[in-house]
Amino acid sequence: MKTSNNPLRANRSSFRRLIALLLSLVLVLLSSGVTWAQAKVITGSKEKAADKSKSKKASSDEVNRPRDYRSANFLLHTDLPKDEADELLKRLETMISLISKYWGRPNKQPLECFVVRDLSVWPQGAFPPEGLAKIEEGAGVTLTQTRVVRGTGEIVGAKATVYAVANRGIPQHEAVHAYCGQNFGHTGPIWYSEGMAEMGQYWRAGESRVNCHPEAVRYIRNSEPKSLNAIVNAREITGDSWENYCWRWALCHLLANNPNYYDRFRPLGLGLLMDKPDATFESVYGSMSKEISFEYLFFLQHFDLGYEVTLTAWDWKSKFRKATSSVPVTCTIEANRGWQASKLLVKAGEVFELTAEGSWQLSDDGSLLNPFGEEAESPKPAKEGATTNKPNKLKKAGGKAESKTEELPTMIPYRSPFKSGQLVGVMFNDYELSEPFAIPSDGTFTAPADGQLFLRCEESWNKLADNKGKVSLKFKLK
Ligand SMILES: [Zn+2]
Repeated sequence: MKTSNNPLRANRSSFRRLIALLLSLVLVLLSSGVTWAQAKVITGSKEKAADKSKSKKASSDEVNRPRDYRSANFLLHTDLPKDEADELLKRLETMISLISKYWGRPNKQPLECFVVRDLSVWPQGAFPPEGLAKIEEGAGVTLTQTRVVRGTGEIVGAKATVYAVANRGIPQHEAVHAYCGQNFGHTGPIWYSEGMAEMGQYWRAGESRVNCHPEAVRYIRNSEPKSLNAIVNAREITGDSWENYCWRWALCHLLANNPNYYDRFRPLGLGLLMDKPDATFESVYGSMSKEISFEYLFFLQHFDLGYEVTLTAWDWKSKFRKATSSVPVTCTIEANRGWQASKLLVKAGEVFELTAEGSWQLSDDGSLLNPFGEEAESPKPAKEGATTNKPNKLKKAGGKAESKTEELPTMIPYRSPFKSGQLVGVMFNDYELSEPFAIPSDGTFTAPADGQLFLRCEESWNKLADNKGKVSLKFKLK
């Protein structure tokens, strides 16, 4: 990597490089039936407002010349200071190990990345025009050259190069494209390639919580939700806007993590990356499109940092039936899940006798609550050796009751007319939900509308994971 910024030398060398490129192209064309085709994967998640400061020149007076850094899977050319370059390589390596495990294909050859903080310290001609343009607009691009067999179109080799500004997230996003381009020869349709590249920058091992840019949460919660069809079938262009990237990422996050859909998502993705003709969203998910639309909309409406699609996946499998006076319908509702099937099918106005047993807590050391959100009258028996009936409080006093993952801030304040810990219900009918309602504690339940009754323990949607306990319910027609 040259570090000179003498324009004459740079021009001469880029001219030499051009000649060399042309020569090698001619040689390849002449030597076999294999041709090089340049496929541009133009991405450029437009930089987010909150990141702008980071694209400015390094604040220190010292000028960092571009240098080369290597790790197992990357060749990084960057003007970042060494400590930041090392940190970036570490993040890229973590990500590449996660995504190559996910797609089941180890990265074959180093991915080359140009990561720019201060364009003025780079020699002229250091970047191809597409790369330079994206860097100038504060974004990134991945250029992939594929070698294909003339006639059959079979891909026999690929080389991807990333050009990106040093903003947190963008090099990682582009590196996902580079991995896909280089190892599969394709990156898939826009919704998949951009959605998964965005996932790449947020991916954490064994973690399915929403952990994205706070700006994305605010945008999604304050916008009219984009329909599934608009995302999957729209003729959108890559690099269009960071707002569109949010929707694509949210869809990929849902499909990759929700147990109703993840089994089919990985093979679909592999098919898309290998450009298999039968790998389309419609062919894989067509029969589930109503369910996905419903869950996607629900996800967007309750979207926040810390929201877990694994805990809020809709129960499409439970069978619902009517209760009679002699054959009740019973169910168990867990405190740490979203809406759960009561298995009770109702008509508006039907009155049921309801018994509710059990208790729950809204955090490790929270009070024990009955199903109606009141402090439980008969607390759990004290654990062996404990002298108090609040064993968790004792544990905390011992100093080690911290949860394993740090709590993410709530971006959108959760407002609810119900008491925390109250058993609440919602009617599901033809993929529509009623307004939620509290289940009264007086032992009767009157169905407010026709449909299937779903229940949950009232709590912020992004704080379900640390809830404990469950309640058992019995509905008998009066
Ligand atoms: Zn992209």
